[in-house]
Amino acid sequence: MRFLITGGAGFIGSHLAEFLLAQRNEVFILDDLSTGSVRNIRHLKSHEHFHYFFDLIQNERLLAELIDESDIVFHLAAAVGVRLILESPVRTIETNVYGTQRVLEAASKKKKLVFIASTSEVYGKSTQVPFKEDSDLVLGPTVKGRWSYAASKALDEFLALSYWKEKKLPIVIARLFNTVGPRQTGRYGMVLPGFVKQALDGEPITVYGSGQQSRCFCDVDDSIEAIWRLVSTDAAVGEVVNVGSDREISIEGLAHVVKERTRSASPISFISYDKAYEPGFEDMPRRVPSLEKLQRLTNYIPETPLPQIVDRVISYFHKQRDAELVGSAVHREFDATWPAYASNSPDRPYFARRRSF
Ligand code: UDP
Repeated sequence: MRFLITGGAGFIGSHLAEFLLAQRNEVFILDDLSTGSVRNIRHLKSHEHFHYFFDLIQNERLLAELIDESDIVFHLAAAVGVRLILESPVRTIETNVYGTQRVLEAASKKKKLVFIASTSEVYGKSTQVPFKEDSDLVLGPTVKGRWSYAASKALDEFLALSYWKEKKLPIVIARLFNTVGPRQTGRYGMVLPGFVKQALDGEPITVYGSGQQSRCFCDVDDSIEAIWRLVSTDAAVGEVVNVGSDREISIEGLAHVVKERTRSASPISFISYDKAYEPGFEDMPRRVPSLEKLQRLTNYIPETPLPQIVDRVISYFHKQRDAELVGSAVHREFDATWPAYASNSPDRPYFARRRSF
């Protein structure tokens, strides 16, 4: 089969591409390299069934061609990460809402199945754990930037469900809960790669707030298994499904696991939310998915234990560092470049292409 992954050079997208290629599928990726990186897909670039396009989703002609070429579209392109959202709110909202709208519009012409990656952020600060897909969403006020991310992804969900209802476009929506693993960067505020980096550098591991807030971390490979099963299940079409682990740990607990697995001497330090993010920042105290629906639809729930996930992340960091020691400056220059290689002009030749459209 043939698949398009928007955001295919991102953390989750690159793992999904690997998974699909391993099953002898044809994979097209479209990525503007805003938060994704060439580094994530460098090992796939020479694969004969892998085709990469570094361009904006606003390039409607390219998007339409790639959707035409594909049997299923995985729409993963989004602005993610709490830090990025606070620093670039306009970009977050526009990327998330307009990007999804364009993908749905183009896919609906050919009635291609679209998988939409949503997020557990949409539950907001609800305290009704575990979160069920039909629970109320509890968002904070619009003056607090964090909630714009949840609102933009909730709008994506409304839009996708409306395309299904009104235009009969088949869609599947997954709310991803704290997906972690190799290739995730701490640059946009994600906690696990941040802690691992700090521990390996011998710097203080920075726990925000009291550290008693909790999350459930899910290995990216488990998330992909769940996503794959969902798009392979007719009963999942038109549904919103939680995807993640339900094994809860406090952030302070996570800091201890990271310290132990890295054998680091780093101290664990506590920083107020105001200092870490912005004055008045609101965090969610607990975030635990109900996995009943996922289990019912796919007969699968993610189970990789946290220490194993953390070890995978640590070993990725070690490999990265080894590669950087011998790596060329060219690669780094390449990865840091955005949006120089992206273009919203349909006439500009795509920076990298394996096929001509
Ligand atoms: N966090 C932290 N130290 C960091 C980065 C994040 O204590 O260096 C906290 C953050 O405040 C939140 C949790 O870890 O309570 C998870 O943060 P992340 O941004 O990874 O995901 P999300 O908030 O979306 O669950």
